[in-house]
Amino acid sequence: MEKIKMSVPLVEMDGDEMTRILWKMIKEELLSPYIDLNTEYYDLGLEYRNETDDQVTVDAAMATKKYGVAVKCATITPNAARMTEYNLKEMWKSPNGTIRAILDGTVFRMPVIVKGIEPVVKNWKKPITIARHAYGDVYKAAEMKIPGAGKCELVYTDENGKESRELIHQFDGPGIVQGMHNLEASIESFARSCFNFALDMKQDLWFSTKDTISKKYDHTFKDIFQDIFDREYKARFEAAGITYFYTLIDDAVARVIRSEGGYIWACKNYDGDVMSDMVATAFGSLAMMTSVLVSPDGYYEYEAAHGTVQRHYYNHLKGETTSTNSVATIFAWTGALRKRGELDRNEPLVRFAGLLEQATIATIEGGRMTKDLALMTTLENPVVETSEGFIKAIRETLEKML
Ligand code: NAP
Ligand code: MG
Repeated sequence: MEKIKMSVPLVEMDGDEMTRILWKMIKEELLSPYIDLNTEYYDLGLEYRNETDDQVTVDAAMATKKYGVAVKCATITPNAARMTEYNLKEMWKSPNGTIRAILDGTVFRMPVIVKGIEPVVKNWKKPITIARHAYGDVYKAAEMKIPGAGKCELVYTDENGKESRELIHQFDGPGIVQGMHNLEASIESFARSCFNFALDMKQDLWFSTKDTISKKYDHTFKDIFQDIFDREYKARFEAAGITYFYTLIDDAVARVIRSEGGYIWACKNYDGDVMSDMVATAFGSLAMMTSVLVSPDGYYEYEAAHGTVQRHYYNHLKGETTSTNSVATIFAWTGALRKRGELDRNEPLVRFAGLLEQATIATIEGGRMTKDLALMTTLENPVVETSEGFIKAIRETLEKML
């Protein structure tokens, strides 16, 4: 087979620890033999981030703006222990945070579904994708402990010094208080990212808040979504045969549990934090969750939802064999390659991305999998593969399909 050509580079962001090892294997075994890989490589491994004073992360995000599509390996977010381990000049910020700040946008997390790894919720047949708003609310709140009796108010002072006030509570004893905010611009870009992604995936979009209780705050989210939908997306949704559906968060939770999946569920920041962990766990495994950052300007960054799998990496360094699941990282690559192929009208590349996904799923359904899946599968007598053995098994399946 002749190798597939790529006319526009894909932005490649390498990472850390065990996922960096998987990254290299995936490229060598599953991509390079079939694709003339055209990537612009950025090393986001912690050593090189430190060497470049984290400039490499900014450069990688800027390259994503230039070319439109990126694939990212999991990276270490430094903490005190990493400062000594890597002899860091500074406690560099989370690369994902830096990239998100530059690209803006919404993170969509979706599970990879295979037979034999059954969702805890029996009727879930198709993936449920969570879209989490990544700005503001309780994550950027001001809080106070109220020591005793007194009045607490919200005060807004406009640029001319004019004040408006709202009583929060007349305390007659100790308590607590919290002030949070969001921005119309951020909610608008969240809404557009969700509508665009739904069109991309040809899936219905659900959105839920608590607007009956929060008549100004949450209601503003609801109104902005509805307004943008009516003005910009209604016709396109109709043409694509998909729907936009708003409901209260408690109603949404009940419907999600009874549903068979196959839609995107947009959530405010806190709801998305909690619900994405619930949905991921109920679908089976963090190692089977992929994630994509979609910016309102149409840039895409694909990655696995899990971290660098530090514990496995230390075993690997000790010379022990590992059995680390590469599915989410493989799907980050296929997601990015498919998107690149769609943008460049590169049909062979789109087809290859689909085939590699099918080969990955077929390998697991055929009984060959990593330890994490073997421990929970309903398939009988699964074969536990090593990290490398699993990737080689996928290659065997792929060769048969080609
Ligand atoms: P983690 O890497 O997600 O791993 C936590 C545990 O989950 C592992 O020890 C392993 O359990 C299991 N696991 C996760 N992914 C797996 C896979 N692909 N295959 C098999 N098992 C898997 O989280 P962490 O250990 O808390 O974090 C390690 C580093 O990752 C941290 O430095 C953190 O900053 C970084 N991180 C990066 C990202 C990102 O770049 N997007 C996200 C989260 C965390 P067992 O040990 O029981 O086998
Ligand atoms: Mg969380």
